[in-house]
Formats: sequence, C-alpha cells, structure tokens
Amino acid sequence: SSSPTHRLRLSLNELQLQAVTFPLKSQLQILAGPGTGKTKTLISRVIFLLSQGVHPSNIILTTFTVKAANEMRERIAAMVGPSVASRLVLGTFHSIARKYLVKYGHLIGLPTGFQIADEADALHFMQGVLKDVDPESDKNDSRRARNVISNLKSRAIQPSSLKALEYTSQDMINVYRLYQDKLAEANLLDFDDMLLKCMELLRTSPLVVSNIQAVLVDEFQDTNIVQYELMKLFASKRCNITIVGDPDQSIYAFRAAESTNLMRMRHDFKDTSVVSLEENYRSSGHILNAALAVIMQDTDRIQKTVLPNHDEGHMPVFFPARNPYIEARHIVREVQRLIDLGCGMLKPHDFAILVRSARLTRPIESELTKVGIDYRIVGGFRFWEREEIKLLVNYLAVVKSRRSPALLDIINNPRRGIGSVMQAALLNHANAYQVPIWEAILRAIDGQVRVNARVKASLKEFVDAITEAERLVQDNTREAPLADALDYLITALDYKEVLKKDRGDTWAARWENVTDLKEQVRYFSATPPDPELPDVEGVEGNKVVDDVLSRFLATVNLSPSESDPSAFDPSMVMTISTIHGSKGLEWPVVFIPGVYEGSIPHSLSLVNEVDLAEERRLLYVAMTRAKGMLYLSYPAMLTGSAMYSANKAESEPTCLESSFVSTIKHKFQNSLPNITYKSVVTLGEILDREPPSSPEFANAKKACFPNPASLDEYWAALAAEEASGYGKYDASDAQVSWH
Ligand code: ATP
Ligand code: MG
Repeated sequence: SSSPTHRLRLSLNELQLQAVTFPLKSQLQILAGPGTGKTKTLISRVIFLLSQGVHPSNIILTTFTVKAANEMRERIAAMVGPSVASRLVLGTFHSIARKYLVKYGHLIGLPTGFQIADEADALHFMQGVLKDVDPESDKNDSRRARNVISNLKSRAIQPSSLKALEYTSQDMINVYRLYQDKLAEANLLDFDDMLLKCMELLRTSPLVVSNIQAVLVDEFQDTNIVQYELMKLFASKRCNITIVGDPDQSIYAFRAAESTNLMRMRHDFKDTSVVSLEENYRSSGHILNAALAVIMQDTDRIQKTVLPNHDEGHMPVFFPARNPYIEARHIVREVQRLIDLGCGMLKPHDFAILVRSARLTRPIESELTKVGIDYRIVGGFRFWEREEIKLLVNYLAVVKSRRSPALLDIINNPRRGIGSVMQAALLNHANAYQVPIWEAILRAIDGQVRVNARVKASLKEFVDAITEAERLVQDNTREAPLADALDYLITALDYKEVLKKDRGDTWAARWENVTDLKEQVRYFSATPPDPELPDVEGVEGNKVVDDVLSRFLATVNLSPSESDPSAFDPSMVMTISTIHGSKGLEWPVVFIPGVYEGSIPHSLSLVNEVDLAEERRLLYVAMTRAKGMLYLSYPAMLTGSAMYSANKAESEPTCLESSFVSTIKHKFQNSLPNITYKSVVTLGEILDREPPSSPEFANAKKACFPNPASLDEYWAALAAEEASGYGKYDASDAQVSWH
C-alpha cells in the first residue's frame, strides 16, 4: 500500500526505522551527528505515533526556532494532511508555553490578556528599576543586570532562593524583585517568565497535560533546565519521550543551556534507551570531512562516527581577502557566478551566508543591494526593528494595553508638543498618586493636572486616536478589524506627511515599509489562528476568543524577523543568518565569512578552554549546514568601519586566519574557486538535481571564467576583467599573499 507509514519505511535507513518504531511507552534518546536525519526521524516518529492511534492534539513536538517549527509542520502536513498536522502541539518551548498560559494561566492567578515583553520592553523596565536603586547607572548596567537575571531565570532561580547564592548581592535581589513587580504591574511576561509560569502551572495543575501521550524534543542539547523541567512535566502522565540531539552542536551555553540534560534525563528515567545514527545524508564527503577535522580538535568530546552518504563532491574553499569589503564582493560574485552557471538549477534561496556576529553582515548587505539580490536576515532585525515599523507596533501595543511601556515611546512621536518637561510632569503625577501614566494623561485632559490648552488638546487627540483604534479592533462586524485599526492610526497620525516632513530623502523607503506592514497585517488577519489547545476533562480552560491583536503582537515578539513580508517569491531571496540562527537548517551553498582569530573564535573566548570549545562547535555547526559547496573566508586586513579588532597601533590592523582552520587547511582547495560548469555538474549530483542541459548552459561553459592556476593569476584575471568593464574592481585591492 502507499499509506504514510509505508512510504515512511521506504525513506528511512535501518537505524532510523528502529528509532521511529520504538515502543510507545518508552524514553528514547537519539544522539547523532549533523545531517544524520535526527529531525527527519523525529518527524517520522510523529507519523508513526499517529498511525498507532495517538491523537495529534496529544503530541507535543518542540523545536528551536519558529522557522524550524513552520518547516516541521509543513513536512508533516505533506504526509498526513494539513488538518491533522495543525492539531499537533508544535512549536518552540516559548510558543507552547504561551498557549498553555493563554488557556490555563488563570489557574495560577495570571490575569487574562497578559502580553509578552520584548527585549526592548524588558530593558526599559530594567533601566527604570536601576535608576531607582542607583541614579548613576547607565544603559550598559541595565543590559548587564538584565542578562544576570535572565540567566537566573533560565535556571529557575527565584529572588527568594537567591540568598543562598553567595555571589549575589542584596542589591541584585532587590533589582530582581523590583523588575518582576514592574512587569506584573504592566501585565507583562518576559521570555523567561513564560517558561517559568508554565512550569508553575503544570506543577500545580498537572491535569492540564493529562491527555499528553508523547513529547518529542529536537535540538535537545541546547535546552536549559527550565525547558528540561517543562519537558518532564509535559510527559508526567504517560512518560513517552523522544529526544534528539548532538552534544557537538551545543552552542547555547551562554543562554544557560545545559548539555548535561542528557545525563539528567538518563538519571530521571532509568529505562532511557539510546540510539545513534551514523550516516550523513546532507553534505558531500569533502565538506563533511573538513567539518569533522574541525570538531576533532576538541580532545574532550565523546567520539562518534559520522560517515558521508554522498560522493566526495567539490572541495570546500578557503580564501583570504584583502579586507571585509573585498571579501563581501567575492562572496557576492560567487553567488552570481553560480546562479549564472546553473542556468536555472540554482536560485538565490539555495545560498546562505552564515556569520559569527550580526555586525559582520554590513559589507555583504551593501554588495547584495548593489547587484540586486534580495536577502533576508535571520536572527537579525531587518523588518521589525525598523524605526517606523517599531513605532506603529508600539501604537498597537498601547491599543492593546494602556499600561504598555511603549506608551512613553509614542506619546510624543510623532511630535505633538508633549516634550520631556510635560512627560516628567505626567510621570510625577502618576508616581505621586500611584496611578498609571494613562490615568495621569486623562486627568490632565480633565484639568486635574495643570497643563496649557495646546498640550491639553494634543493629549486629547492622542487619547481619542488610541480609543478609536481600540474600538475598531474590537469591531467584529468588520472583515479585518486589526488592519482597519492600523489604517486608521496611520491616517490619524497623518504618518505619511510626518515621514515626508521629518525624514528627508528616506521618507519614501520608510513609507514603503509602512505599506508592507499594512499588507502584512491584512494577511495576518486573514490567516486562521493556530488551533487552540484541546479541552481537558476536569479543568476549566479559558474560552480563547481569537484576540487577533494579542496574537499579532505575540508573533512580532516571538519571531522578530522571521516573517519578513518583503519576501514575495521565497526562491528569489537568499539567507543571511547568524550561525546560531542556522541550527538544524541546510543549504546547497554556504559561505562563512570572517573566519579570523578574534571573530571565530571570538575575542572574548580566547582565554578560556571551555568557551573556545563552544566556538569550535559553532564553526562545526556552520560548516555542516552546507550540502554541496562551502566557502570559508577572512579579511587579511580590517579597515574602516569594519575594524573591530583590538590592534589599534596599526592603521590597518592585520588579521590572522582562525586557528581552527590553520591546521586543517590542507582539507580545503588551496585557491580561490575554480568554478566552472563542471563544479555545477558536481553540485547537481550531490543535490540530486538535473544539471542544466539548455543551450544557455553550453554558452555559459564557453563564457565561463578560466581556471586560474594560482591565486595570483586569479587576481590578475579579475583585474583584466575590470579593465574590460565587467563590474568595478580596484587591482590594488588584490595584493594579498597566500601561504
Ligand atoms: P542537524 O544535526 O543539522 O539538525 P539532522 O540530524 O536533524 O541534522 P536532518 O535535517 O533530519 O538531519 O536530515 C538532513 C538531510 O538528510 C535532510 O535533507 C534529510 O531529508 C536527509 N535524510 C535524512 N535521512 C535520510 C535517509 N534515510 N535517506 C535519504 N535522505 C535522508
Ligand atoms: Mg535537525
């Protein structure tokens, strides 16, 4: 037959099948290297469980990123249909926790309609708290305090239990307490709270998860203690747990992830079975071997076997460029060259550029813009952090809740004559009478706070706009109430004119973003919400009315960048991502720029063997994202704004290639890409794609860049190309030596 399970069997290897069909009431760890099909196995196990009669809404499946969750749902939907797939409780730990809190939060006294504080909100509160404790404190102090507290929360440490920890001062305990109070006052939870509150809920009301029959966790090596506890609580009734992970890919220690959770689980569940997978189906042999050569430099790790399933393929390439701009240019040229050579076989979405830190992307972005290749940044803030977008989202946050900290960000933006003096007066009144700022504003309009007539009028206009927008949002007779409310706000603010007046040349681009947002919100209003959690007998859950505004704000906060509406044709958009954001994903062609000492390994980790090992794993994760082609590069000189190294003595500090690659350079092709049509054919074999057979391809063969015998020749050829008018290229940039 061609039932889903039958098809499943055909696509799995022996070990994978064994893991997929493991007995129902068991605990299973699947530990294996990158690309060995861990995620595929996890998904297949869900299909298996469904075939055994487990109801989809009784299965919890967690992943690490929103993007990975969406991909999983799509892949499952392809096998069992969208209606079954949509019933699974599937998402990141945070999004699942949010669902439980929305439905059952009242059981632990959480007020309904709580909102999520994004990083900016959280920092804002922290600043407020610190200013009270220490007026001298600055933004960096708040950031530091925020990190300390986030770290404590990730380990489920409450203020009350802090005393036992000698290293925390009384001050920190106070700050922690005050910070929590401020959040509670505004009916907000920060990211860490969502997990902690959910943990509290499941501990006090275990009935809520009594229907859950299976819990599956991807990327287990990067769970923190709270997530581990949540997993246990989800599974408390039937104890069917399947986790997959790879200790070599543990890269979130800085967020209190604990790879020791693997041992913890074996301790907590004595019957835990361990299965390992050994065949890598993702990468070409050469790429896999280069990556393995990096991770093997760690002498402390547990050895495991990872064997390539593919041919050797194309050698990975390692090249130094003169500076970050030249490096960026080469990368973008290679992307273009491969797309051209592929004659349709490769599209922008087949390429990814993975960086150690977000600031490395600037030169690359500008090169991509020059040649007109569309891109999106994962783990960055391309869309939602744009000023004009953030502002309008802040308006919506205040429409949702008058206590949102965003209120102060929008009260005089656009400028309406409510300057810092007036704001201070409102704040003073609020503090003196212990009322919310919104109430102070209403009192000012009422004449209870002394303000002049002009200010009064603009405060009234502001309040009216927010109130009217709220009325529109709640008007269910409309087809798209949220979109209408946003449109209303934009008009009420006369936002287009404001941009024209205040934003000079950039107004048009900004207005375009606003238009994008409007479209995004319309689209969002038309998409049905994620299915609700199923009712559980014996527990009164909230009837979750679809509150589209909360839902929208939650999406914005939970995935700052992953729903960029500018991506119309997804296949025409290439990916730029931090390495952290690339986990679990794969691309035919991967570039890793900035592979120099001080970037990867990061300068902050150079002194410490433990941190150094995490940096090494980070490079390992990045390299193993590539299927068919892999390029590593670094700028030999750091110049201009791209100069972040410590070497201040030189005007152009030289830069060393990463020590991770120095010793294994022989694993790489020792010259810049000899990209010819042959490379594309090889790539096609690895990717299982038909190489182009069109007449254009024959021409491309001829027009193809000649194979340079050495790097020098390559530079010379580039210079010649420049002379013939192909793009701009400064030959003096090419003076770099290869050793
Ligand atoms: P990572 O550690 O990077 O998350 P992973 O172990 O989760 O990797 P998957 O993403 O599940 O690996 O699989 C990697 C690739 O190999 C995918 O494209 C998947 O479809 C393919 N693959 C996995 N198992 C098989 C198989 N038995 N036959 C063919 N292809 C497979
Ligand atoms: Mg995976």
